[in-house]
Amino acid sequence: MALAGAVTLAGAWLVVDTQPAAGAGIALDECVAPEGLELQDQDYDDDQLPWQRADGTEAVINFETKAVTDDAYLDDLATAVEMWDSSPCIQPKLVENCPDDENCVTISLDEGDSDDDGNFDAIEEDDFTTGGHISYYVDNLAEEGPEATLNVVIHEMGHAVGLRHRATEGVLMHADTNENTQVDEIDYDNLLVLYGNQDSDSGPHEGNAN
Ligand SMILES: [Zn+2]
Repeated sequence: MALAGAVTLAGAWLVVDTQPAAGAGIALDECVAPEGLELQDQDYDDDQLPWQRADGTEAVINFETKAVTDDAYLDDLATAVEMWDSSPCIQPKLVENCPDDENCVTISLDEGDSDDDGNFDAIEEDDFTTGGHISYYVDNLAEEGPEATLNVVIHEMGHAVGLRHRATEGVLMHADTNENTQVDEIDYDNLLVLYGNQDSDSGPHEGNAN
């Protein structure tokens, strides 16, 4: 596993040329992966899938907070939403209750029965995430402190938007809890690959997700 130090195309998504190719039929959209960009620094022991994104739109992902009764967690969730929202591909939102028929991830604060600090359980269908639930294990996190808690809050939301673990120790999306609370350029590039390469010719969605 010599993936540490993988080449990063830092900032690539900020400079995507949005000039449309004549007749390409693709809506103007910053969520376009530069040609040749691939997922970087991946830990394939883990797996996640993106949500389906319609051309020219960000994938709106609601995070339902009605079961989150702790203001410190709500603050951390707001920070997490702000960071992931910097991707041009997704629009995470904190909502008390998810609107009917919209993408929804529910959240709870739980007592852990293991060493886990958090978990994302995905609902998946046809190679996309279609829903899910985040558990934050508050007893374990209370012992680890506020920086580690913020790390886990952002990390689990990272899984919920479609990212698997990263191979490099010490980065936000590494499997082990740490005190890194920064989404970095590789995370944003990986979202570009997951969302910017979705097939634009696949036609209308089936629309029958339950
Ligand atoms: Zn994880």
